Amino acid sequence: MTSFNELNISSRILDAIESVGYETTTPIQERTIPVALKGRDVLGLAQTGTGKTAAFTIPILQKLINSDGQSIKALIIAPTRELADQINETVQQLSKYTKLKSLTVYGGVNKKPEVTRLQRRVDILIACPGRLLDHLKEKSLHLNDLEMLVLDEADTMFDMGFLPDITKILTYLPKKHQSLLFAATMPKPIKQLTDKIFDSPETIQIGTIKPAQTVSHHLYPINEKMKKDALLKILNSTATGQILIFTRTKFRTKKVFADLDKNNFRVVALQGNMSQNKRMQSMNGFKQGKYDILVATDIASRGIDVSNVTHVINYDMPTTVDTYIHRIGRTGRASKEGEAYTFMLPEDSGMVKRIEKVLGENIEKRFLEDFNYGDMKVFDSPKQLHKSNRFKKQTNYKKTSTKHSRTRNQSKNHRPSSKN
Ligand code: AMP
Repeated sequence: MTSFNELNISSRILDAIESVGYETTTPIQERTIPVALKGRDVLGLAQTGTGKTAAFTIPILQKLINSDGQSIKALIIAPTRELADQINETVQQLSKYTKLKSLTVYGGVNKKPEVTRLQRRVDILIACPGRLLDHLKEKSLHLNDLEMLVLDEADTMFDMGFLPDITKILTYLPKKHQSLLFAATMPKPIKQLTDKIFDSPETIQIGTIKPAQTVSHHLYPINEKMKKDALLKILNSTATGQILIFTRTKFRTKKVFADLDKNNFRVVALQGNMSQNKRMQSMNGFKQGKYDILVATDIASRGIDVSNVTHVINYDMPTTVDTYIHRIGRTGRASKEGEAYTFMLPEDSGMVKRIEKVLGENIEKRFLEDFNYGDMKVFDSPKQLHKSNRFKKQTNYKKTSTKHSRTRNQSKNHRPSSKN
């Protein structure tokens, strides 16, 4: 860990860093900032929660600090609107003692106000690929003077099918610019993209590409029709801080939200069919602690920083190992402890094996006490697990240590003020 003072950055940025409360660099910052300040391309292999936003924002601010303000000099491309907003928040916090101005552009909101704002000073643009490409085609912005490009969560952008858009966006950039790409995993197409855009990059890998060590993982073998009751059982008997529940589809997100709302939980939903305004309300309400539970599709599984998530529940098994890593990366952030519970259907055993391979350990299976498993035979019975010493009483894992801990019953009377 280094002090930011040793990094040759302006006192105006140092003061802003101090005001947000960062004392020393995180490992990714320690390694990325000096390299990026020298103008080198950077390939950052780091999971979310490592401080990578500031790792690329600080060099951008330092390099642009005396910029003339005539055109966009830095572009940060992110996969989701939520992540774009979050990056912009960091950029604004760290640039507050400079003249630099930033702006986000993304789909799902009216384009006209964006066009108006683009006519004012914008030094740093944070954009989602689709809307950015629209603006470029319509010439409501140009990137002819771009000096720095950041592709954040590049693996997610690939998963979301944005690679063709990104390839087109690259044709609007000047030949000479510095590129920084961050990804938690490195699928082949991203490797190919880096070969294309980079000029002998410095590769910076922080830790192995594995979930944070502060997360403990548990599987709940179950049948589809028991999921709702099992979820209620867990929520009613486990003391938790904030909980993120992931489902596979927008429809299932709505359904689980409705089930929990009916049972008086302080719950909110986040899925892609909601308007951008509603999505922001949900995310902000959850971040501010207005809700205890966020039920979401994988839209919330990437990059989002909510520091008090103590539990991630995979109501549906993720479809890829990367998705599992990203989902559970929402808990155990900044060295806090987190728990990841995953409902496991008989057909999920192949995926479980693949996840276990990446984790480098077997995930403990748990059965709920006093829960009607009916004639479920496909898994080891609780008794067998007990014999093999893997069965733990639920009371053993009740989490009571965090300041934010509360049992469900304590929060039942607090109904959400608005529903989605
Ligand atoms: P990120 O990986 O960029 O999403 O950052 C994860 C969290 O770490 C955010 O809440 C940041 O505010 C926080 N953070 C970033 N850099 C530092 C630092 N040097 N010291 C303490 N916290 C930090």
